[in-house]
Amino acid sequence: MIKAIKGFHDILPGEVEKWQFVEAKARKIFETFGLSEIKIPVVERIELFARSIGEATDIVEKEMYTFPDRKGELITLRPEATASVARAYIEHRLYENKPVAKFYCIGPMFRHERPQKGRYRQFHQVNVEVLGTSDPASDAEMMTMLSHFLTEIKVTEVELQINSLGCLGCRAPYRKELILFMVNKSAELCVDCQRRVQTNPLRTFDCKNKICQEVTTLAPKILEHICANCNHNFEEVQRNLRELGVSYKINPRLVRGLDYYTKTTFEVVTDKLGGQNAVAAGGRYDGLIKDLGGPDIPGLGFAIGLERLISLIPAERDLSRSPHIFIASLGSDAKIEAMKLANKFRFVGIRTEIGYDGKSLKSQMRWANRLNAKYVVIIGDEELALGRVILRDMAKKEQEEIELTRIVEEVNLRKEIT
Ligand code: ATP
Ligand code: MG
Repeated sequence: MIKAIKGFHDILPGEVEKWQFVEAKARKIFETFGLSEIKIPVVERIELFARSIGEATDIVEKEMYTFPDRKGELITLRPEATASVARAYIEHRLYENKPVAKFYCIGPMFRHERPQKGRYRQFHQVNVEVLGTSDPASDAEMMTMLSHFLTEIKVTEVELQINSLGCLGCRAPYRKELILFMVNKSAELCVDCQRRVQTNPLRTFDCKNKICQEVTTLAPKILEHICANCNHNFEEVQRNLRELGVSYKINPRLVRGLDYYTKTTFEVVTDKLGGQNAVAAGGRYDGLIKDLGGPDIPGLGFAIGLERLISLIPAERDLSRSPHIFIASLGSDAKIEAMKLANKFRFVGIRTEIGYDGKSLKSQMRWANRLNAKYVVIIGDEELALGRVILRDMAKKEQEEIELTRIVEEVNLRKEIT
């Protein structure tokens, strides 16, 4: 038997309804905030990710799925969406259309990580990118949108944490100071962090190792080292959040694994998911578009991890779809009539199933029961000759004869009452 590859999952009916619900809500809410959907490829040239995400990051160092294609060119399954959206924005000169462009996209990402609960090799994200403004109001606007979205899908036991990573100007001297501090503690750090101290010291804050976390607790924090400008910017973001009624907490340890982040950075975390506690993460990346060869245009964005988000949706929410109508038929003429009648229901938007394979009435009724159909319409050859069918209410266990020509109308009437 051929099985799915480790870390890759099927999302089956029963579960997929939650996904559809969440995705539909995201589309609806994001569009009210002025975002448009963008669909980007799942593969890109390796350089796009290496250049934008940064060589010294977990993703580029060890998590990318990169293959030579048939011509030997190295292509990478996208590990995240921001780089591709930025590439598309530059390639199609989208900055010429509107001063501020706002996008969202929904789809799979691929990272070669150790699979565990909440961590997969193919996982899904909803991504948001806003390009063309450095207004701190837009940072707050996107966090408001995220927070409103989470409330709407009833994911409430989460916390929005924010921090500022400063601009490149404040980061360089801070980086030196952090390296000085960390070098002295190097012996206590994990092997990865010993290396990070030299390549990307900020990332030591992100390490999941307990000892590294203790060490970084005492380390100098970026927030204490940002310039007056960045500080003012961070104050403005917070003022907006407060005025808009979005609750948040400052987490001075919050850094992003990717190189391109500047100024505001944020995460939505929960204590309901064990180790994999980040549900969404993002921030501002003012240098990215220029780094990728575009004009000097600021941007910000975030990504929601859908697997983690969906596991937080309250279980009592029954999204499973049972048919409103099940049509049981006996005899071949009745079966054709069942097919026609099913179309009549379906074409007016009523979820309808029919019995297959010439099964007995008893077995069709059992099937209707298993599908949890609300009504069964029974068409027998005899009733059909009289132009009638039987409508059975499965919960009430009551049935009545109704004229075939009136059945859709009758079902619709009952739909209004219940
Ligand atoms: P983590 O610290 O958990 O590895 P990250 O910093 O690598 O997260 P981002 O690149 O910021 O994550 O991605 C945004 C979101 O995507 C995360 O907050 C998480 O919800 C989700 N995510 C990231 N990697 C995975 C994965 N391997 N499996 C499932 N969800 C993931
Ligand atoms: Mg990661």
